[in-house]
Amino acid sequence: MAYETVLGLEVHIQLRTRSKLFCACPNTFAGEPNTRVCPVCLGLPGALPVLNGEAVTAVARLGLALGATVHERSVFARKNYFYPDMPKNYQISQYDRPLVTGGHLDIGTAREPRLVPLTRVHLEEDTGKSFHPEVHGDREETRLDFNRAGVPLAEMVSEPALTSPDDAFAYLVALRRLVRWLGISDGDMEKGSLRCDANVSLRPAGRKEFGTRTEIKNLNSIAGVRNAIAAEVERQKGVLDGGGRIVQSTLLWDQDKERLQVMRSKEEAHDYRYFPEPDLPPCVLSANDRARIEADMPELPQARARRFEEALGLSAYDAALVADTRELADYFEETAAAGIPAKAVANWIGNDVLRTLKESGEDLAAFRATIPPARLAALVGLVAGGTLSSKLGRELFAVMRAEPGEPAALAKAHGLVQESDAGALAAIAERVLEANAGVVDDFLAGKEKALTFLVGQLMKETKGKAQPQVAQGVLKEALERRRAPAGP
Ligand SMILES: [Zn+2]
Repeated sequence: MAYETVLGLEVHIQLRTRSKLFCACPNTFAGEPNTRVCPVCLGLPGALPVLNGEAVTAVARLGLALGATVHERSVFARKNYFYPDMPKNYQISQYDRPLVTGGHLDIGTAREPRLVPLTRVHLEEDTGKSFHPEVHGDREETRLDFNRAGVPLAEMVSEPALTSPDDAFAYLVALRRLVRWLGISDGDMEKGSLRCDANVSLRPAGRKEFGTRTEIKNLNSIAGVRNAIAAEVERQKGVLDGGGRIVQSTLLWDQDKERLQVMRSKEEAHDYRYFPEPDLPPCVLSANDRARIEADMPELPQARARRFEEALGLSAYDAALVADTRELADYFEETAAAGIPAKAVANWIGNDVLRTLKESGEDLAAFRATIPPARLAALVGLVAGGTLSSKLGRELFAVMRAEPGEPAALAKAHGLVQESDAGALAAIAERVLEANAGVVDDFLAGKEKALTFLVGQLMKETKGKAQPQVAQGVLKEALERRRAPAGP
């Protein structure tokens, strides 16, 4: 039977704030276990939470970027369940009054948007981390680290509107880009700063009602999400085709074995006995706060790529490439602002800059320290203006990585100067023609293409330093002199 896949994603986004959600402990990754804890995030009796405004701002920024409704008033709730790494036995989350509702994530391109509708984004605290079981001496022990307890999370829930594992992949790539662009999270799935659960169900093609869904947890890489969903879709197809029924359950994806295993049957909301958190007042986002956050919103990735196409004449491909991250888009725009052709700047960034970042493992900030926009602009200008061939430009780029100094001066100092003096090239042209008598005959017999070969030889002879148009002119003249009949 033909089936339609229905997917919804719940993504936990670890927010990059200075301190945790309800206490002053620093919010940083890893470190010695249990060194960033206090009575509040350890859940000791009597400790009282105080809301971190920075986390509220981060979620509001995300909500605005998603075109969602950011509510003036939202309410924290207790979500009751037992977890060894959550000693309070409840998590402070938001339930029926979340900070953000509606909106959509665009998983398309600047030209062809594809809007995935969202249900909500709410704010909640992270739990600690269990390491279990580990062997210590003669016994197995579970150890707990509370450094992560109380770290702020935004939970973003999509509508069941995605239809394939590739959709889920595109969704996470787009979300990672957006949270990095907004500067609210490092978006690193491998470090757990984006964690995805996927709800998967199938229904006969064309039917309206949803089938029974399963939830896959523990997805910690974007490729893993795609593989796990594909495996679950196949599993459900097998069950349905065999006349079986899907049981609502939670599955765990084993990344190493690329296999799904059933974890537990799924809880319903009422299992958590949610009630309003008595230790926190409702979260109020004043008109002033909102205006401040709106004023601070950056131009969003798709809009920026579109502007690069429309205002600077980049192709859709180049625009998407240089607008991949906000830092790269800034670097591109500041370089192009020097008045050199934007297309040439995009080419240099797409080829040489990105390759250098990949090879050196540097981030863009470190690269910028050696080649700031004005310096790259000077180099691109030398090549675009014909002073340097692209080959010499590449050599100059390598020199610039190693040495400070103004590009034109460096080019001179390193002998990376194009020979455009026809007189100096004439003698070399003569040598080339003498060494290639057969090719000269071909040219004189009417084979125009022979000239290209001769230009190549001259470039080789000058180690690529001849200005190509001048070289071609000099060679043509020398050839014409050989054609001319002896004078009377
Ligand atoms: Zn704390």
